[in-house]
Amino acid sequence: MRVGMGYDVHKLVENRDLILGGVKIEHSLGLLGHSDADVLLHAIMDAMLGAAALGDIGKHFPDTDEAYKGANSMELLKKVGSLIEEKGYVVGNIDATVIAQKPKLRPYIDQMEKNIAEALNISKDMVNVKATTEEGLGFTGNESGISAQAVCLLESFMESGYTAGTNEARNCAGCSGCVKTQ
Ligand code: ZN
Repeated sequence: MRVGMGYDVHKLVENRDLILGGVKIEHSLGLLGHSDADVLLHAIMDAMLGAAALGDIGKHFPDTDEAYKGANSMELLKKVGSLIEEKGYVVGNIDATVIAQKPKLRPYIDQMEKNIAEALNISKDMVNVKATTEEGLGFTGNESGISAQAVCLLESFMESGYTAGTNEARNCAGCSGCVKTQ
């Protein structure tokens, strides 16, 4: 078992969409960034990459690369899912917190969890998203930005009891942790 943590911040500005966990949220302000600035997914990806000792999202998807301008972070999350799998790991669980004064995120959380679970091909029960304010304090409290924190537990294929070959989308041919090759 391995654990990783992720943390990210984006500025809130006018004339940008607010996208969290792949859900477009009605709000007067949106997050500024090279990609779609989905701060929640960025924290989750960093937690996953950290757990697998694969660096961080800046290393895999540099913000100097035009290819990632306006990038849909759900697509980046799928890529991180593949990187984890290539290294022989599966997600045990993900827990994340979005810190935002406004808007109220509760109505959107179920859809965020669904989106994340689907992108990673895991059950929704393995993903938990929470939202909190910082009681008006600091940069999240005065609405200059939104931050997110995440932890992710990874298990190797062997630990997880994952049965190779039960899912056509997951080809075990190149998997170093596969029970069939031991
Ligand atoms: Zn980010």
